[in-house]
Amino acid sequence: MRQMLENCQVIPCEAGGDPGVIHDGAIIINGNKIEAVGRREDLAPLRSQFEPHQVRDLGGRWVMPGLMDMHVHLSLALPGNGHLLAQVEDDMDLTMRAYRNALNALEAGVTFLRTVGDARFVDLHIKRAINSGTLKGPRLFCAGHMVIITGGHGHGRGAKEADGPEGFRQAVREQLRAGADLIKLAITGGIAGEHEAITDSQATVAEMEAAAQAAHNAGRRITAHAGSAKAITQGVLAGLDCVEHGYFLDGWTVDLMVKQGTFLVPTLSVSRAPEYMRERGCPQWMIDKALRAGEGHMQSYQLAVAAGLPVAMGTDMLPAEDYDNTLAVYREMEWMVEGGMSNHEVLLASTIKAAELCQVQDTLGSVSVGKLADLIAMPENPLDNMQNLRKLDFVMKDGEIYRDF
Ligand SMILES: [Zn+2]
Repeated sequence: MRQMLENCQVIPCEAGGDPGVIHDGAIIINGNKIEAVGRREDLAPLRSQFEPHQVRDLGGRWVMPGLMDMHVHLSLALPGNGHLLAQVEDDMDLTMRAYRNALNALEAGVTFLRTVGDARFVDLHIKRAINSGTLKGPRLFCAGHMVIITGGHGHGRGAKEADGPEGFRQAVREQLRAGADLIKLAITGGIAGEHEAITDSQATVAEMEAAAQAAHNAGRRITAHAGSAKAITQGVLAGLDCVEHGYFLDGWTVDLMVKQGTFLVPTLSVSRAPEYMRERGCPQWMIDKALRAGEGHMQSYQLAVAAGLPVAMGTDMLPAEDYDNTLAVYREMEWMVEGGMSNHEVLLASTIKAAELCQVQDTLGSVSVGKLADLIAMPENPLDNMQNLRKLDFVMKDGEIYRDF
């Protein structure tokens, strides 16, 4: 089916610099692809090809590409209540909970989720069900299990423990065998681990090199949960394509990342969410640890932004979870603005930059002719105020409307 969206302002998110907003715009969608984008008056000659039911008046709304969250765990179970409940969950309970989390994200405008560590391959199973049309949901780009050292960050919560280069190589290959789109390691301690410091080095250089080689041989990118500048430097030199969190970066490490083209997914929310953690029954040690990391975490992000590092948005919460009187994904984007990126840069980090990180920029990430029709819309301009995203009320994925005002 062909359809036309009209009476809208389009933020294409195609490239940096000027946002290039198309005022009083229109978009023609053919099946699941964008056929034309332009000013309404320029597309007016084509309008007669559409029946009234094929034309949607967006009432002046601001349209942009669907959001792409680069750091999600569909089976998220933080220390505290979440972890306790996960202990008694069977495969079916887990699947339904994880699927509901994916569907909620889509309704919030997140049309693409990069999963970076889930239990029992639930992310890959849900992805298959969505892609085959069995279930409705967002696009998923999945890591399967996070690969960690014995007792490393995330142990006991669905991560795959391995040791030594051969162990890491095999663990990576197991994720690839299951259909993983990317590989995720944990190379340092983190906030949600009681017996580790965020700066503890965990994976060795030899383990990281073996994992990176196995991933790259299969044409997949590899990323890592990483806290300290030292471990990140080792990881980048060992072949990491991306770093998650990057709590304590320094100038030297950021320069190395710029040179190597390494992405950063900062997940700023995780170190500034004490209420969120309290509500979920997280233990006090975890809340204290998160808050202690907050300042360094933000400074690291600012170093990265100033150096021009490629940054992509990730929540490390469920995108549509309640957080700070809004949803996690919107709040994370607001934190990124508060930390110093321009509104437009944050929109790019949440769309085309994320698409580049996942190497899907030819088909997703911008409102461009020939790309897949994943679109969101809101009544007011997010370039003026990022909080306008909170009022998002229109979601289309693959040419199909999932939420309408
Ligand atoms: Zn995470």
